Amino acid sequence: MTGGAGMYDFIIIGGGIVGLSTAYALVQKDPLAKVMIIEKEQQLSLHQTGRNSGVIHSGVYYKPGSLKARMAVKGRTSMVNFCRTHHVAHDVCGKVLVATDREEVARMDALYHRVQQNGVTVSKLSRDELSGFEPHVNGIAALHVPQTGIVDYKKVSEKLADLLRDSGVEFSFGSPVVNIEEGSDLVTIETEEKTFRARFFINCAGLQSDRIVKMTGIHTELQIVPFRGEYYKLTEEKSHFVNSLIYPVPNPDFPFLGVHLTKMMDGSVHAGPNAVLSLKREGYKKTDIQWRDMLEVLTFSGFWKMAGQNMKEGTKEMVRSFNKRHFLKSLQRLVPDIMEQDIVTADAGVRAQAMLRNGRLVDDFYMIPGKRSIHVCNAPSPAATASLEIGKEIAERIPERTSVIVS
Ligand SMILES: Cc1cc2nc3c(=O)[nH]c(=O)nc-3n(C[C@H](O)[C@H](O)[C@H](O)COP(=O)(O)OP(=O)(O)OC[C@H]3O[C@@H](n4cnc5c(N)ncnc54)[C@H](O)[C@@H]3O)c2cc1C
Repeated sequence: MTGGAGMYDFIIIGGGIVGLSTAYALVQKDPLAKVMIIEKEQQLSLHQTGRNSGVIHSGVYYKPGSLKARMAVKGRTSMVNFCRTHHVAHDVCGKVLVATDREEVARMDALYHRVQQNGVTVSKLSRDELSGFEPHVNGIAALHVPQTGIVDYKKVSEKLADLLRDSGVEFSFGSPVVNIEEGSDLVTIETEEKTFRARFFINCAGLQSDRIVKMTGIHTELQIVPFRGEYYKLTEEKSHFVNSLIYPVPNPDFPFLGVHLTKMMDGSVHAGPNAVLSLKREGYKKTDIQWRDMLEVLTFSGFWKMAGQNMKEGTKEMVRSFNKRHFLKSLQRLVPDIMEQDIVTADAGVRAQAMLRNGRLVDDFYMIPGKRSIHVCNAPSPAATASLEIGKEIAERIPERTSVIVS
């Protein structure tokens, strides 16, 4: 450890959209607060924030009363307002949730009622009305969600970072946090080269967030299990098959599964993502392995319990990953005109999914309080949509200043 000590009111570990939004909320609340963001990479948002579907979700799927439901609904509005105010390109293009058989119509009707509880307005579409929105879609009925939009979350992050710099927030790039001492008056955070001190810190380390928790000595049985989401994209000539966003009706047992077609801000159309175990937390290729990451998953009892309970769905996802034709079949259920030559491999992302030792996936957003810290330990989709609200929530949860240590 070399380098001098810096002293801050707040240190945020992780320069993804949740970390940036948290810093934004903190300086909105107290413009004089001295804030540092520590990021292990040389750039912001290289992981989940820069590798997702770019959807501004509306809050349709989530359990009424959950943090996800509350924050996605409010977060959608905050995100759209932020983009409008700060001129970040976005498009509130709406989406359709398509039922292709009677069973899916029944699920769609159940979802319609849940959606009302979350305060989201949707309308039911007949086959003909659906064709008006998406002429290439094969569906017998659909829900239309007009509030859903798209944005490039990397661009949102860049704008947030500009605003933060203007407010005096500092950044330390290329600085992986390797050790934390959480005392009763102050926190000491060591990176490979520097030491920082703060009154309070917030762990927004995404795929590494459980490791940061463990550095503080907090006992948790929760572990991050990385699930890669792989995408194809439509060739340019076939991008006109999709006008906005086309989703299947979700299976309530596996709401995060089900490949969809998403128009991106650059005009391309992405198809995916699936969900397969990644043997490297930040592994974006099928062949990526990191021994520590792999061993941690394979020796985690929760993983085997989850795998045993969900063998059928897990196998389907693996087959879809290695066999383009199977992936294509899922897409053709929605848009039958798509042929094998119409899709090409696109960049993948990896989800940080928290899992418990009993094999249960943590469904809601989840934060662990420490003595002088808050740890964001489960912030999967729709956390990019909800990020500005997550930031506000964290700023509210931080105990009021008891002593001023920043000179
Ligand atoms: C395939 C996929 C599709 C998705 N689609 C959507 C979508 O359409 N809409 C939506 O709302 N959400 C979506 N999500 C979810 C969304 O991307 C995430 O919820 C969100 O980006 C989480 O942001 P974050 O800041 O918590 O994590 P990240 O963006 O992963 O940021 C964490 C940061 O912490 C840094 N870090 C880690 N360890 C350390 C350390 N030791 N020291 C210093 N820094 C460290 C990392 O380098 C990283 O920059 C998707 C996610 C995936 C993977």
